[in-house]
Amino acid sequence: MLYVANWKMNPPSLNDAKRLLKNIRTGINTGVKDKKTQIIICPPAIFLTKLGRPSSLIKFGIQNIGSKERGAFTGEISVLMAADANVEYCLVNHSERKLYFNETTRDANQKIKLCLEKRITPIFCIGESQKQFKKGKTKPALENQLKQGLKDIGIMNIKKVILAYEPLWAISSQKGAKAENPDQILGINILIRKILFGLYDQKIARETKILYGGSVAPKNAALYVKNKSIDGFLIGSASLNSFSFLNIIKNCQKN
Ligand code: PEP
Repeated sequence: MLYVANWKMNPPSLNDAKRLLKNIRTGINTGVKDKKTQIIICPPAIFLTKLGRPSSLIKFGIQNIGSKERGAFTGEISVLMAADANVEYCLVNHSERKLYFNETTRDANQKIKLCLEKRITPIFCIGESQKQFKKGKTKPALENQLKQGLKDIGIMNIKKVILAYEPLWAISSQKGAKAENPDQILGINILIRKILFGLYDQKIARETKILYGGSVAPKNAALYVKNKSIDGFLIGSASLNSFSFLNIIKNCQKN
């Protein structure tokens, strides 16, 4: 199981970030070590090179990269810089990037290609809006995102992409967010695998790693893993507290 911690724009200082990571490391060494567990920490980019080296259990990811490799793009971080910082994973097209920074699925496609060229594993976030969900448009919404986001990426590379299914209204930063029903997630996981089958083949449909994200917490995480179709979680607010984050992992390991 993959547990991806998205720290977003937190914590406010490097010392706090170091403390949080130290508490997670200590907790893991004293309780949650297990061969099937892989943790990926996505801190704010400015802290990335200052949090020590990755280990076999804890790797680092970046929350975003620019859609161009180099050039005059004030404020952007290039994939070249991410690779130079030994980043192994990159979140792509997170819902907050779409919502607040107008990021499109075309941007996602460019970023995924850049990551793959530099051997960084993209974690491509997909998900329908509440409006699309209510109108029964989840399938076309996900299908469009997958088609556009993965456009012109060869089958050998598609295998390297991790998907994170995050229904937009379930992310805790959204107004009125609430955790999605675990049974519905099973249905949508199957739906995503069917779409992948239509676009590619059975092997891709079966083997692509699909994470779930949206207000995942110690009290609900185990309910999601019961259905066995989830390969891990993308965790926002609960990853900012080492106890919550470790308890999510512990609760899932019991199942
Ligand atoms: C996220 O940031 O991807 C996320 C799922 O956040 P939260 O767990 O806070 O809903």
